[in-house]
Amino acid sequence: MTPSERPPWRRDPFIAAVGIAAFVGLLMTLPVPEPADPPGGPLPETTFAVVDVAVFDGEEFRPHRDVWVEDGRIRAVGQRLRLPDDLPRVDGGGHTLLPGLIDAHTHTYGLVLTDALRFGVTTVFDQFTSPSILVQKRAAREDLSRGNEADLFSAGNVATAPGGHGTQFGVPIATLTTAGEASTFVRERKEEGSDWIKIIWEDGGTFGADIPTLDRETIAAVIEAAHAEELLAVIHVSTLEHGLAALEMGVDGLVHVWGDEVISEEDASRFAEAGVFVIPTLSVRVAAAGESLGPDLLEATAPEYVSPMQRQTLTQTFPRPVGTSEASIESVRRLHAAGVRILAGTDAPNPGTGFGISMHGELRLLERAGLTPAEALAAATAHPPAAFGIEDRGRLQRGRIADLLLVAGDLEGDLTRTTAIAGVWKDGFPVEAAWATSPEPR
Ligand SMILES: [Zn+2]
Repeated sequence: MTPSERPPWRRDPFIAAVGIAAFVGLLMTLPVPEPADPPGGPLPETTFAVVDVAVFDGEEFRPHRDVWVEDGRIRAVGQRLRLPDDLPRVDGGGHTLLPGLIDAHTHTYGLVLTDALRFGVTTVFDQFTSPSILVQKRAAREDLSRGNEADLFSAGNVATAPGGHGTQFGVPIATLTTAGEASTFVRERKEEGSDWIKIIWEDGGTFGADIPTLDRETIAAVIEAAHAEELLAVIHVSTLEHGLAALEMGVDGLVHVWGDEVISEEDASRFAEAGVFVIPTLSVRVAAAGESLGPDLLEATAPEYVSPMQRQTLTQTFPRPVGTSEASIESVRRLHAAGVRILAGTDAPNPGTGFGISMHGELRLLERAGLTPAEALAAATAHPPAAFGIEDRGRLQRGRIADLLLVAGDLEGDLTRTTAIAGVWKDGFPVEAAWATSPEPR
């Protein structure tokens, strides 16, 4: 059987993975056991302070800070704040408090937003989901009432060719063929609620397939149309050549780094000069190359926190290696060194990745690509909302939403400690998961 005679899910590992994940999503409608309260009792909610804690504020580590939360927003961050006597306090000694993590590349369905939240991922930037999910989840972004899901921002319906990548999931989606259709296509996405435009440039060449894709003229027209509607245009590419071509076309960001070649320092500088951001999705790139972090992450996590869907996708593998980890990681090293803004994203739930949990692996991979712990954490907190023009989250700063992650230990010295989760707050409400290391409220 030649590749083109096989059904699409046999030709494209990404397609197969998401199909399987969708099936697992159905299984996830079964009831999940209720987690127990953390030792020391439940964490305080909406109005409280975490005192004498090391913070990572979105840019830098700062020791011995107090973080005062009021009505689900951060009221103040400082040293020895004058706090009301009756304000509930959590002793943060020996812990690090940081903004909730933001995964800048996911695909959403089932209970994945709950899975993400349990691992401290309080917002996801979805890079393709059903527009109906986008509409359904939009209100929760501004709403500070108690919930059990991460917030969702999304590209919604991607810009892809008929029969192209993105059309294979059983969700009917709009497609386009010519540059002349670009402005209507983009306007319709805006009306449908897309927060930005994501373009698919994928001919399947890197994994031995032949997939219909948009031509260059159409891609350039979609980028231009997105900008005319004041929307960002981001693009899925699999090769360095396509990444460089998209740069020339004026794209705002790449949602993957390629896996085929190491970029030259000179070309890396061109991305930096153009101000193009890159979401490398090293988690899926190393998994595609046959070196998934999934098993390590499962080993580092108590089994009761891992949902069947997370376990399933973390242990899946690609049918055959695609690209090399070296090409991806070394390219990120050069992009970062050149000054390109790097955003952390996992591409969960592709094989070898899991919602929420894989962000902890992505941080380690970014560190392997030369980012310091503070730079890796900035890529997962302050930088994604800044790149996408979202101002209410991602930093520990007065007025921002109190989406918080508390971990035991010193992250500056050891970034792998992000999985030592002691507490997660979403909109100031503690997430009910029984992470064992919670400090005593006092
Ligand atoms: Zn993706």
